[in-house]
Amino acid sequence: MKLLSVIVPCYNEEENIRDFYDELMKNSAFFQNRELDVEVIYIDDGSKDRTVEKVKELAAQDGRVHLVSFSRNFGKEAAICAGLQKAKGDYAVMMDCDLQDPPALLPEMFRYIDEGYDSVATRRVTRKGEPVIRSFFARMFYRIINKISKTEIVDGARDYRLMTRQVVDSILAMTEYNRFTKGIFGWVGYETKWLEYENIERKKGETKWSFWKLFLYSIDGITAFSTVPLAIASFMGLLFCICAFLMIVFTIVRKMLFGDPTSGWPSLVCIILLCSGVQLFCLGIVGQYLSKTYMEVKRRPIYLVKEEL
Ligand code: UDP
Ligand code: MG
Repeated sequence: MKLLSVIVPCYNEEENIRDFYDELMKNSAFFQNRELDVEVIYIDDGSKDRTVEKVKELAAQDGRVHLVSFSRNFGKEAAICAGLQKAKGDYAVMMDCDLQDPPALLPEMFRYIDEGYDSVATRRVTRKGEPVIRSFFARMFYRIINKISKTEIVDGARDYRLMTRQVVDSILAMTEYNRFTKGIFGWVGYETKWLEYENIERKKGETKWSFWKLFLYSIDGITAFSTVPLAIASFMGLLFCICAFLMIVFTIVRKMLFGDPTSGWPSLVCIILLCSGVQLFCLGIVGQYLSKTYMEVKRRPIYLVKEEL
């Protein structure tokens, strides 16, 4: 018998704990045929509702259900990391609690693993049911990050992914604090099969991601997997130096040909504003990397466990 670890990050998902379990166990026959034992690890990411109680109820009925409860909300990336660390399985799969990642896809995923793939990932091909602005910025983010990062980050990729033990260990070997999972998966490589499906709307409860949270997350992603913005900062510096040099030559020549009438106050203000704007912008870019480095250097734990079952 091989063991499959199902990792489920939950943040305020009391309504979904049971539904998810039921949906997953519809695969029981498949698990038996494939000679798979299953462990379900719910990672409670500091929920403020009755998520923990619900998981405990389940665990009392089924010994295969485990709980890791964080001391506060550490974010989904931390939850995934904790899940992978706790997983003992020969295979591990991450799924959202809200049933947007259909467990019914598991048999198909295992078919590809049996064919020799190291991991099977999923991506949604439509962004149906998502606000237009959000889709637009999401598309832009993927376009930008794939231009400036060597790591491939697939548009629409979900965190729903089945992996072999080897891939899990590789991911765990990355000990960084700033964990941008979508990038980490791409970075470790291995043979990955992509399955596509239509976006499925959340069954119950609400999305935990506001537009602002997503925006900050995208900056995390860019700083974690590209240093091109730093190069842009130096490039802009160079560009402005060249402009300044040309202006100096122009001013000297004009002075020699036409004398020096005192004009140019408005243009001077424009130049000062532009230059100081660009300087602050570049300083901000450097600051982003500095702050990430600062957090890495502190070596704080990625999450704290309050309770384990
Ligand atoms: N989640 C989490 N911690 C957070 C936010 C979300 O563990 O801080 C979990 C959440 O419970 C869910 C999954 O991550 O199982 C995906 O969250 P959500 O459905 O809100 O995101 P969306 O599908 O809208 O992108
Ligand atoms: Mg969701």
